[in-house]
Amino acid sequence: MASIQIGKQAVVIGAGMAGLTAAGALADSFDNVVVLERDSLPSKPMHRAGTPQARHVHGLLFSGQCALNELFPAFEQDLLSAGAVPLTAGRDVRIERPGYDPFPQRDLGWCGYAASRPAIERAVRHRVESRANITLRQRCRVQEVLPASNGEAVTGVRYENGGSGSETISADLVVDASGRGAPTLGLLRSLGRPLPEETTIGIDLGYSTCIFSIPDDASTEWKGVMTFGQAPHDSRGGLMLPLEGNRWMVTIGGRHGDVPPGDGEGFLTYAKALRTPTIYNAIRHAKRLDGVARYGFPESVRRHFERLDSFPRGLLPIGDAICCFNPVYGQGMSVAAMEACLLKRLLENSGETGNPIAELASIFFKEMQALIETPWSVATLDFAFPQTRGQRPADFEMTLKFGIALIRLAAEDPAVHKLTLEVQHLLKPRSVYRDPDLVRRVFAKMAEA
Ligand SMILES: Cc1cc2nc3c(=O)[nH]c(=O)nc-3n(C[C@H](O)[C@H](O)[C@H](O)COP(=O)(O)OP(=O)(O)OC[C@H]3O[C@@H](n4cnc5c(N)ncnc54)[C@H](O)[C@@H]3O)c2cc1C
Repeated sequence: MASIQIGKQAVVIGAGMAGLTAAGALADSFDNVVVLERDSLPSKPMHRAGTPQARHVHGLLFSGQCALNELFPAFEQDLLSAGAVPLTAGRDVRIERPGYDPFPQRDLGWCGYAASRPAIERAVRHRVESRANITLRQRCRVQEVLPASNGEAVTGVRYENGGSGSETISADLVVDASGRGAPTLGLLRSLGRPLPEETTIGIDLGYSTCIFSIPDDASTEWKGVMTFGQAPHDSRGGLMLPLEGNRWMVTIGGRHGDVPPGDGEGFLTYAKALRTPTIYNAIRHAKRLDGVARYGFPESVRRHFERLDSFPRGLLPIGDAICCFNPVYGQGMSVAAMEACLLKRLLENSGETGNPIAELASIFFKEMQALIETPWSVATLDFAFPQTRGQRPADFEMTLKFGIALIRLAAEDPAVHKLTLEVQHLLKPRSVYRDPDLVRRVFAKMAEA
Protein backbone atom coordinates (compact mmCIF):
# COMPACT_ATOMS: atom_id res chain seq x y z
CA MET A 1 0.00 0.00 0.00
CA ALA A 2 1.32 3.49 -0.87
CA SER A 3 2.21 5.24 2.35
CA ILE A 4 1.18 8.76 3.32
CA GLN A 5 3.70 11.02 5.04
CA ILE A 6 1.92 12.10 8.17
CA GLY A 7 4.76 13.83 9.99
CA LYS A 8 8.35 14.98 9.78
CA GLN A 9 9.84 13.29 12.80
CA ALA A 10 8.84 10.48 15.15
CA VAL A 11 10.84 9.68 18.28
CA VAL A 12 10.77 6.21 19.85
CA ILE A 13 11.86 5.76 23.49
CA GLY A 14 13.64 2.41 23.89
CA ALA A 15 15.26 -0.05 21.47
CA GLY A 16 13.72 -3.21 22.90
CA MET A 17 11.40 -5.38 20.83
CA ALA A 18 8.49 -2.92 21.04
CA GLY A 19 10.67 0.09 20.15
CA LEU A 20 12.43 -1.57 17.24
CA THR A 21 9.26 -2.97 15.71
CA ALA A 22 7.49 0.37 16.23
CA ALA A 23 10.36 2.12 14.43
CA GLY A 24 9.91 -0.30 11.51
CA ALA A 25 6.19 0.51 11.48
CA LEU A 26 6.74 4.28 11.51
CA ALA A 27 9.45 4.49 8.86
CA ASP A 28 7.05 4.70 5.88
CA SER A 29 4.98 7.49 7.42
CA PHE A 30 7.60 9.90 8.78
CA ASP A 31 10.58 11.58 7.11
CA ASN A 32 12.76 10.61 10.08
CA VAL A 33 12.43 8.17 12.92
CA VAL A 34 14.83 8.53 15.86
CA VAL A 35 15.13 5.75 18.41
CA LEU A 36 16.63 6.79 21.77
CA GLU A 37 18.05 3.95 23.89
CA ARG A 38 19.68 4.40 27.31
CA ASP A 39 21.99 1.37 26.86
CA SER A 40 25.06 0.88 24.72
CA LEU A 41 23.89 -1.43 21.97
CA PRO A 42 26.28 -4.33 21.38
CA SER A 43 27.15 -5.18 17.78
CA LYS A 44 26.96 -8.90 18.66
CA PRO A 45 24.03 -10.68 20.34
CA MET A 46 25.00 -9.94 23.93
CA HIS A 47 23.21 -9.08 27.13
CA ARG A 48 22.73 -5.46 28.12
CA ALA A 49 21.63 -3.84 31.36
CA GLY A 50 18.36 -2.34 30.09
CA THR A 51 16.77 -5.71 29.32
CA PRO A 52 17.69 -8.01 32.24
CA GLN A 53 14.93 -10.40 31.19
CA ALA A 54 16.96 -11.24 28.08
CA ARG A 55 19.04 -13.72 30.12
CA HIS A 56 15.95 -15.97 30.28
CA VAL A 57 14.19 -18.15 27.73
CA HIS A 58 12.40 -16.00 25.15
CA GLY A 59 10.09 -18.11 23.00
CA LEU A 60 8.88 -16.38 19.85
CA LEU A 61 5.27 -17.34 19.07
CA PHE A 62 4.28 -17.97 15.48
CA SER A 63 2.09 -14.83 15.54
CA GLY A 64 5.20 -12.84 16.48
CA GLN A 65 7.19 -14.45 13.71
CA CYS A 66 4.44 -13.56 11.20
CA ALA A 67 4.32 -9.98 12.51
CA LEU A 68 8.10 -9.66 12.18
CA ASN A 69 7.83 -11.01 8.63
CA GLU A 70 5.17 -8.39 7.88
CA LEU A 71 7.35 -5.56 9.16
CA PHE A 72 10.65 -6.92 7.86
CA PRO A 73 9.98 -9.18 4.83
CA ALA A 74 11.64 -12.63 4.94
CA PHE A 75 12.72 -12.05 8.55
CA GLU A 76 12.82 -15.83 9.08
CA GLN A 77 15.93 -15.91 6.92
CA ASP A 78 17.59 -13.49 9.35
CA LEU A 79 16.69 -15.76 12.24
CA LEU A 80 18.19 -18.73 10.42
CA SER A 81 21.35 -16.75 9.62
CA ALA A 82 21.58 -15.85 13.32
CA GLY A 83 21.70 -19.58 14.08
CA ALA A 84 18.09 -19.96 15.27
CA VAL A 85 16.95 -23.57 15.56
CA PRO A 86 13.86 -24.52 13.47
CA LEU A 87 11.09 -26.15 15.52
CA THR A 88 8.20 -28.00 13.92
CA ALA A 89 5.07 -26.89 15.77
CA GLY A 90 3.49 -29.65 17.86
CA ARG A 91 6.37 -32.06 17.37
CA ASP A 92 9.78 -30.74 18.40
CA VAL A 93 9.00 -29.47 21.90
CA ARG A 94 8.02 -32.23 24.30
CA ILE A 95 5.10 -30.93 26.36
CA GLU A 96 4.59 -32.54 29.74
CA ARG A 97 1.38 -31.76 31.59
CA PRO A 98 -0.48 -33.77 34.26
CA GLY A 99 -1.97 -36.83 32.60
CA TYR A 100 0.20 -36.44 29.51
CA ASP A 101 3.91 -37.08 29.94
CA PRO A 102 4.36 -36.35 27.11
CA PHE A 103 1.42 -34.82 25.29
CA PRO A 104 1.11 -36.42 21.79
CA GLN A 105 3.81 -35.04 19.49
CA ARG A 106 2.53 -34.31 15.98
CA ASP A 107 3.61 -32.16 13.06
CA LEU A 108 0.92 -29.46 13.03
CA GLY A 109 2.06 -27.82 9.84
CA TRP A 110 4.24 -24.81 10.59
CA CYS A 111 7.77 -24.08 11.64
CA GLY A 112 8.94 -21.71 14.36
CA TYR A 113 12.43 -20.77 15.50
CA ALA A 114 14.22 -20.81 18.83
CA ALA A 115 17.03 -18.38 19.58
CA SER A 116 18.24 -16.25 22.45
CA ARG A 117 16.50 -12.93 23.05
CA PRO A 118 19.75 -11.02 22.28
CA ALA A 119 19.99 -12.88 18.93
CA ILE A 120 16.36 -12.14 18.02
CA GLU A 121 16.69 -8.50 19.08
CA ARG A 122 20.00 -8.14 17.22
CA ALA A 123 18.39 -9.48 14.04
CA VAL A 124 15.52 -6.96 14.33
CA ARG A 125 17.93 -4.14 15.14
CA HIS A 126 19.97 -5.00 12.07
CA ARG A 127 16.86 -4.55 9.90
CA VAL A 128 16.01 -1.26 11.61
CA GLU A 129 19.56 0.02 11.12
CA SER A 130 19.31 -0.74 7.42
CA ARG A 131 16.40 1.70 6.97
CA ALA A 132 17.86 4.98 5.70
CA ASN A 133 15.42 7.21 7.60
CA ILE A 134 15.75 5.50 11.00
CA THR A 135 18.50 6.64 13.39
CA LEU A 136 19.35 4.65 16.48
CA ARG A 137 20.96 6.75 19.19
CA GLN A 138 22.46 4.73 22.03
CA ARG A 139 23.39 5.96 25.51
CA CYS A 140 20.48 8.40 25.37
CA ARG A 141 18.24 8.18 28.42
CA VAL A 142 14.94 10.00 28.02
CA GLN A 143 14.24 12.13 31.09
CA GLU A 144 10.84 13.50 30.17
CA VAL A 145 8.28 13.90 27.42
CA LEU A 146 7.82 17.59 26.68
CA PRO A 147 4.27 18.95 26.65
CA ALA A 148 2.98 21.84 24.53
CA SER A 149 2.16 24.94 26.56
CA ASN A 150 -1.56 24.08 26.67
CA GLY A 151 -0.82 20.53 27.91
CA GLU A 152 -2.96 19.04 25.14
CA ALA A 153 -0.11 17.71 23.00
CA VAL A 154 3.54 16.72 23.19
CA THR A 155 6.34 18.44 21.29
CA GLY A 156 9.30 16.09 21.82
CA VAL A 157 11.48 14.69 24.59
CA ARG A 158 14.38 15.76 26.77
CA TYR A 159 17.18 13.22 27.10
CA GLU A 160 20.54 12.76 28.73
CA ASN A 161 23.10 12.29 26.03
CA GLY A 162 25.80 9.86 27.15
CA GLY A 163 27.76 12.27 29.32
CA SER A 164 27.45 15.43 27.23
CA GLY A 165 24.45 16.72 29.13
CA SER A 166 20.81 17.18 28.42
CA GLU A 167 19.34 17.76 24.96
CA THR A 168 15.88 18.07 23.52
CA ILE A 169 14.53 16.67 20.28
CA SER A 170 11.26 17.69 18.69
CA ALA A 171 8.76 15.18 17.38
CA ASP A 172 5.34 15.05 15.77
CA LEU A 173 4.88 11.68 17.44
CA VAL A 174 6.58 10.21 20.55
CA VAL A 175 6.25 6.45 20.96
CA ASP A 176 6.98 5.25 24.50
CA ALA A 177 8.47 1.76 24.21
CA SER A 178 10.42 2.04 27.45
CA GLY A 179 8.93 -1.15 28.94
CA ARG A 180 7.82 0.39 32.23
CA GLY A 181 6.12 3.38 30.61
CA ALA A 182 7.71 5.82 33.07
CA PRO A 183 7.97 8.68 30.51
CA THR A 184 4.22 8.48 29.73
CA LEU A 185 3.14 8.18 33.35
CA GLY A 186 5.54 10.99 34.34
CA LEU A 187 4.00 13.30 31.73
CA LEU A 188 0.43 12.50 32.81
CA ARG A 189 1.39 13.20 36.45
CA SER A 190 3.15 16.46 35.61
CA LEU A 191 0.08 17.66 33.71
CA GLY A 192 -2.23 16.69 36.57
CA ARG A 193 -4.04 14.25 34.25
CA PRO A 194 -5.48 10.96 35.53
CA LEU A 195 -3.31 7.85 35.21
CA PRO A 196 -4.79 4.84 33.44
CA GLU A 197 -6.55 2.33 35.67
CA GLU A 198 -4.62 -0.92 36.03
CA THR A 199 -5.73 -4.54 36.19
CA THR A 200 -3.10 -6.73 37.83
CA ILE A 201 -2.65 -10.44 38.39
CA GLY A 202 -0.21 -10.98 41.27
CA ILE A 203 1.87 -14.12 40.91
CA ASP A 204 5.33 -13.42 42.46
CA LEU A 205 7.03 -15.54 39.85
CA GLY A 206 10.66 -16.51 40.43
CA TYR A 207 12.81 -17.53 37.46
CA SER A 208 16.30 -19.07 37.31
CA THR A 209 18.07 -19.74 34.04
CA CYS A 210 21.22 -21.56 32.96
CA ILE A 211 22.76 -22.27 29.58
CA PHE A 212 24.17 -25.71 28.81
CA SER A 213 26.11 -27.19 25.93
CA ILE A 214 23.91 -29.79 24.21
CA PRO A 215 25.59 -33.16 24.88
CA ASP A 216 26.27 -35.60 22.02
CA ASP A 217 23.89 -38.15 23.53
CA ALA A 218 20.93 -35.73 23.81
CA SER A 219 17.53 -37.20 22.96
CA THR A 220 16.56 -37.21 19.30
CA GLU A 221 12.86 -37.43 20.23
CA TRP A 222 12.63 -33.72 20.98
CA LYS A 223 14.57 -30.45 20.68
CA GLY A 224 13.01 -28.76 23.69
CA VAL A 225 10.91 -29.61 26.74
CA MET A 226 8.15 -27.79 28.58
CA THR A 227 7.07 -29.24 31.92
CA PHE A 228 4.04 -27.99 33.82
CA GLY A 229 3.36 -28.61 37.52
CA GLN A 230 0.08 -29.87 38.93
CA ALA A 231 -2.17 -26.91 39.72
CA PRO A 232 -3.31 -25.80 42.24
CA HIS A 233 -0.61 -27.25 44.54
CA ASP A 234 2.51 -27.29 42.40
CA SER A 235 3.22 -24.12 40.43
CA ARG A 236 6.72 -25.18 39.40
CA GLY A 237 7.59 -25.56 35.79
CA GLY A 238 10.53 -25.77 33.43
CA LEU A 239 11.22 -24.75 29.84
CA MET A 240 14.25 -25.90 27.94
CA LEU A 241 14.76 -24.60 24.41
CA PRO A 242 17.67 -24.87 21.99
CA LEU A 243 19.67 -21.75 21.16
CA GLU A 244 22.09 -20.72 18.46
CA GLY A 245 25.52 -22.31 19.02
CA ASN A 246 24.36 -25.84 19.94
CA ARG A 247 23.18 -24.76 23.40
CA TRP A 248 20.16 -25.29 25.58
CA MET A 249 18.70 -22.50 27.65
CA VAL A 250 16.88 -23.88 30.67
CA THR A 251 14.51 -21.73 32.71
CA ILE A 252 12.87 -23.15 35.83
CA GLY A 253 10.61 -21.35 38.22
CA GLY A 254 7.59 -21.22 40.47
CA ARG A 255 4.91 -18.82 41.63
CA HIS A 256 4.11 -17.27 44.98
CA GLY A 257 7.54 -17.45 46.55
CA ASP A 258 8.55 -20.91 45.30
CA VAL A 259 11.72 -19.30 44.01
CA PRO A 260 14.52 -21.39 42.47
CA PRO A 261 18.03 -20.90 43.88
CA GLY A 262 20.79 -18.85 42.27
CA ASP A 263 23.65 -21.36 42.38
CA GLY A 264 24.45 -24.24 40.02
CA GLU A 265 23.92 -27.03 42.52
CA GLY A 266 20.66 -25.53 43.81
CA PHE A 267 19.51 -25.12 40.20
CA LEU A 268 19.94 -28.86 39.58
CA THR A 269 18.22 -29.75 42.87
CA TYR A 270 15.21 -27.59 41.94
CA ALA A 271 15.16 -29.08 38.41
CA LYS A 272 15.18 -32.56 39.95
CA ALA A 273 12.09 -31.68 41.96
CA LEU A 274 10.05 -30.75 38.86
CA ARG A 275 7.02 -32.99 38.34
CA THR A 276 8.87 -35.06 35.72
CA PRO A 277 12.58 -35.93 35.46
CA THR A 278 13.06 -35.13 31.75
CA ILE A 279 14.77 -31.75 32.12
CA TYR A 280 16.90 -32.87 35.05
CA ASN A 281 18.02 -36.02 33.23
CA ALA A 282 18.91 -33.98 30.15
CA ILE A 283 21.09 -31.45 31.99
CA ARG A 284 22.56 -33.28 34.96
CA HIS A 285 25.70 -34.33 33.05
CA ALA A 286 25.62 -31.49 30.51
CA LYS A 287 28.29 -28.78 30.64
CA ARG A 288 26.98 -25.57 32.21
CA LEU A 289 28.27 -22.59 30.23
CA ASP A 290 27.62 -19.73 32.64
CA GLY A 291 26.23 -18.81 36.04
CA VAL A 292 22.60 -18.85 37.12
CA ALA A 293 20.57 -15.76 36.14
CA ARG A 294 17.53 -14.91 38.27
CA TYR A 295 14.47 -12.74 37.75
CA GLY A 296 11.49 -11.86 39.89
CA PHE A 297 8.21 -10.97 38.18
CA PRO A 298 5.57 -9.79 40.67
CA GLU A 299 2.51 -9.36 38.48
CA SER A 300 0.97 -9.17 35.03
CA VAL A 301 -0.21 -5.59 34.46
CA ARG A 302 -2.74 -4.21 31.99
CA ARG A 303 -3.03 -0.43 31.81
CA HIS A 304 -6.40 0.73 30.56
CA PHE A 305 -5.39 3.71 28.43
CA GLU A 306 -8.54 3.03 26.41
CA ARG A 307 -10.65 4.17 29.38
CA LEU A 308 -9.10 7.65 29.61
CA ASP A 309 -11.36 10.46 28.40
CA SER A 310 -8.49 12.18 26.64
CA PHE A 311 -4.79 11.67 26.03
CA PRO A 312 -2.01 14.09 25.03
CA ARG A 313 -1.89 14.37 21.24
CA GLY A 314 1.26 12.94 19.65
CA LEU A 315 2.08 10.45 22.42
CA LEU A 316 1.69 6.69 22.11
CA PRO A 317 2.78 4.05 24.65
CA ILE A 318 3.33 0.57 23.20
CA GLY A 319 4.47 -2.93 24.23
CA ASP A 320 5.05 -3.64 27.92
CA ALA A 321 4.31 0.03 28.67
CA ILE A 322 0.65 -0.88 28.04
CA CYS A 323 0.46 -4.52 29.02
CA CYS A 324 2.97 -7.01 30.37
CA PHE A 325 2.11 -10.65 30.81
CA ASN A 326 3.41 -13.48 32.97
CA PRO A 327 6.46 -14.47 30.88
CA VAL A 328 5.73 -18.19 31.31
CA TYR A 329 3.30 -17.90 28.40
CA GLY A 330 5.94 -16.36 26.10
CA GLN A 331 3.69 -13.63 24.71
CA GLY A 332 5.40 -10.24 25.23
CA MET A 333 7.65 -9.98 22.16
CA SER A 334 4.95 -11.33 19.87
CA VAL A 335 2.29 -8.95 21.20
CA ALA A 336 4.75 -6.05 20.81
CA ALA A 337 5.38 -6.97 17.16
CA MET A 338 1.64 -7.38 16.52
CA GLU A 339 0.98 -3.95 18.06
CA ALA A 340 3.60 -2.51 15.70
CA CYS A 341 1.75 -4.08 12.76
CA LEU A 342 -1.48 -2.50 14.01
CA LEU A 343 0.29 0.87 14.25
CA LYS A 344 1.57 0.48 10.69
CA ARG A 345 -1.92 -0.33 9.39
CA LEU A 346 -3.47 2.63 11.22
CA LEU A 347 -0.86 4.98 9.75
CA GLU A 348 -1.30 3.57 6.25
CA ASN A 349 -5.07 3.86 6.44
CA SER A 350 -5.16 7.36 7.88
CA GLY A 351 -6.75 9.77 5.43
CA GLU A 352 -4.85 12.44 3.53
CA THR A 353 -6.94 15.16 5.14
CA GLY A 354 -7.27 16.11 8.78
CA ASN A 355 -4.65 15.35 11.41
CA PRO A 356 -4.11 11.60 11.73
CA ILE A 357 -1.79 12.03 14.72
CA ALA A 358 -4.60 13.70 16.67
CA GLU A 359 -6.71 10.55 16.39
CA LEU A 360 -3.94 7.98 16.53
CA ALA A 361 -3.72 7.15 20.25
CA SER A 362 -7.48 6.82 20.82
CA ILE A 363 -7.92 4.57 17.75
CA PHE A 364 -4.85 2.53 18.67
CA PHE A 365 -5.98 2.04 22.29
CA LYS A 366 -9.41 0.94 21.06
CA GLU A 367 -8.23 -1.44 18.35
CA MET A 368 -5.49 -3.05 20.38
CA GLN A 369 -8.05 -4.37 22.88
CA ALA A 370 -8.95 -7.16 20.45
CA LEU A 371 -5.25 -7.90 20.06
CA ILE A 372 -4.54 -8.27 23.79
CA GLU A 373 -7.78 -9.98 24.76
CA THR A 374 -6.48 -13.49 24.10
CA PRO A 375 -2.99 -13.06 25.64
CA TRP A 376 -4.56 -11.41 28.70
CA SER A 377 -7.09 -14.22 29.08
CA VAL A 378 -4.16 -16.66 28.92
CA ALA A 379 -2.50 -14.71 31.76
CA THR A 380 -5.68 -15.07 33.86
CA LEU A 381 -5.06 -18.83 33.92
CA ASP A 382 -2.75 -17.99 36.86
CA PHE A 383 -5.91 -17.88 38.99
CA ALA A 384 -5.66 -21.68 38.96
CA PHE A 385 -3.33 -21.03 41.94
CA PRO A 386 -5.33 -19.89 44.99
CA GLN A 387 -2.67 -17.42 46.19
CA THR A 388 -2.93 -15.41 42.95
CA ARG A 389 -3.93 -11.82 43.68
CA GLY A 390 -6.45 -9.86 41.66
CA GLN A 391 -9.98 -10.05 40.33
CA ARG A 392 -10.67 -13.71 39.60
CA PRO A 393 -13.00 -13.95 36.57
CA ALA A 394 -16.54 -14.87 37.67
CA ASP A 395 -16.76 -18.00 35.51
CA PHE A 396 -13.22 -19.16 36.25
CA GLU A 397 -14.05 -22.64 37.63
CA MET A 398 -15.93 -23.41 34.43
CA THR A 399 -13.06 -22.00 32.32
CA LEU A 400 -10.65 -24.37 34.09
CA LYS A 401 -12.88 -27.41 33.68
CA PHE A 402 -13.49 -26.55 30.04
CA GLY A 403 -9.74 -26.12 29.52
CA ILE A 404 -8.91 -29.51 31.05
CA ALA A 405 -11.52 -31.27 28.90
CA LEU A 406 -10.30 -29.37 25.82
CA ILE A 407 -6.77 -30.66 26.43
CA ARG A 408 -8.09 -34.22 26.62
CA LEU A 409 -9.92 -33.74 23.34
CA ALA A 410 -6.81 -32.20 21.77
CA ALA A 411 -4.74 -35.22 22.82
CA GLU A 412 -7.12 -37.45 20.83
CA ASP A 413 -7.90 -35.23 17.85
CA PRO A 414 -5.08 -33.63 15.81
CA ALA A 415 -7.44 -30.94 14.44
CA VAL A 416 -8.34 -29.80 17.97
CA HIS A 417 -4.68 -30.04 18.98
CA LYS A 418 -3.84 -27.72 16.06
CA LEU A 419 -6.59 -25.29 17.07
CA THR A 420 -5.34 -25.08 20.67
CA LEU A 421 -1.79 -24.45 19.47
CA GLU A 422 -3.04 -21.76 17.10
CA VAL A 423 -4.71 -20.01 20.05
CA GLN A 424 -1.59 -20.46 22.19
CA HIS A 425 0.50 -18.90 19.42
CA LEU A 426 -2.03 -16.03 19.14
CA LEU A 427 -2.88 -16.93 15.55
CA LYS A 428 -6.54 -17.26 16.50
CA PRO A 429 -8.56 -15.64 19.29
CA ARG A 430 -9.78 -17.68 22.26
CA SER A 431 -13.32 -17.03 21.05
CA VAL A 432 -12.83 -19.92 18.56
CA TYR A 433 -13.47 -22.17 21.56
CA ARG A 434 -17.08 -20.98 21.51
CA ASP A 435 -17.75 -22.84 18.25
CA PRO A 436 -20.98 -24.80 19.02
CA ASP A 437 -19.69 -28.11 17.68
CA LEU A 438 -16.47 -27.82 19.68
CA VAL A 439 -18.40 -26.80 22.81
CA ARG A 440 -20.62 -29.87 22.42
CA ARG A 441 -17.60 -32.17 22.12
CA VAL A 442 -15.80 -30.56 25.08
CA PHE A 443 -18.91 -30.86 27.25
CA ALA A 444 -19.18 -34.53 26.27
CA LYS A 445 -15.56 -34.99 27.47
CA MET A 446 -16.41 -33.20 30.74
CA ALA A 447 -19.32 -35.60 31.24
CA GLU A 448 -16.97 -38.60 30.81
CA ALA A 449 -14.80 -37.53 33.77
C1 LIG B 1 11.79 -13.12 32.73
C2 LIG B 1 11.08 -12.77 31.45
C3 LIG B 1 10.99 -13.71 30.43
C4 LIG B 1 10.30 -13.38 29.26
N1 LIG B 1 10.12 -14.35 28.33
C5 LIG B 1 9.46 -14.05 27.20
C6 LIG B 1 9.25 -15.03 26.18
O1 LIG B 1 9.57 -16.21 26.36
N2 LIG B 1 8.65 -14.64 25.03
C7 LIG B 1 8.22 -13.36 24.84
O2 LIG B 1 7.68 -13.06 23.78
N3 LIG B 1 8.36 -12.42 25.79
C8 LIG B 1 8.96 -12.72 26.95
N4 LIG B 1 9.11 -11.76 27.90
C9 LIG B 1 8.54 -10.42 27.66
C10 LIG B 1 9.42 -9.59 26.75
O3 LIG B 1 10.73 -9.46 27.26
C11 LIG B 1 8.79 -8.18 26.55
O4 LIG B 1 7.41 -8.25 26.60
C12 LIG B 1 9.17 -7.65 25.20
O5 LIG B 1 10.55 -7.54 25.15
C13 LIG B 1 8.56 -6.29 24.87
O6 LIG B 1 9.06 -5.39 25.77
P1 LIG B 1 9.30 -3.85 25.46
O7 LIG B 1 10.10 -3.65 24.24
O8 LIG B 1 8.00 -3.17 25.61
O9 LIG B 1 10.19 -3.49 26.74
P2 LIG B 1 11.75 -3.92 27.04
O10 LIG B 1 12.06 -5.19 26.37
O11 LIG B 1 11.81 -3.84 28.51
O12 LIG B 1 12.53 -2.77 26.34
C14 LIG B 1 12.52 -1.45 26.82
C15 LIG B 1 13.74 -0.72 26.27
O13 LIG B 1 13.65 0.66 26.61
C16 LIG B 1 14.87 1.10 27.14
N5 LIG B 1 14.55 2.24 28.03
C17 LIG B 1 13.83 2.20 29.17
N6 LIG B 1 13.70 3.43 29.68
C18 LIG B 1 14.34 4.27 28.83
C19 LIG B 1 14.54 5.68 28.80
N7 LIG B 1 14.06 6.48 29.76
N8 LIG B 1 15.24 6.22 27.78
C20 LIG B 1 15.74 5.42 26.80
N9 LIG B 1 15.59 4.09 26.78
C21 LIG B 1 14.88 3.51 27.77
C22 LIG B 1 15.44 -0.13 27.84
O14 LIG B 1 16.84 -0.03 28.03
C23 LIG B 1 15.05 -1.22 26.86
O15 LIG B 1 16.00 -1.35 25.83
C24 LIG B 1 9.75 -12.07 29.09
C25 LIG B 1 9.86 -11.14 30.11
C26 LIG B 1 10.49 -11.48 31.29
C27 LIG B 1 10.53 -10.46 32.39
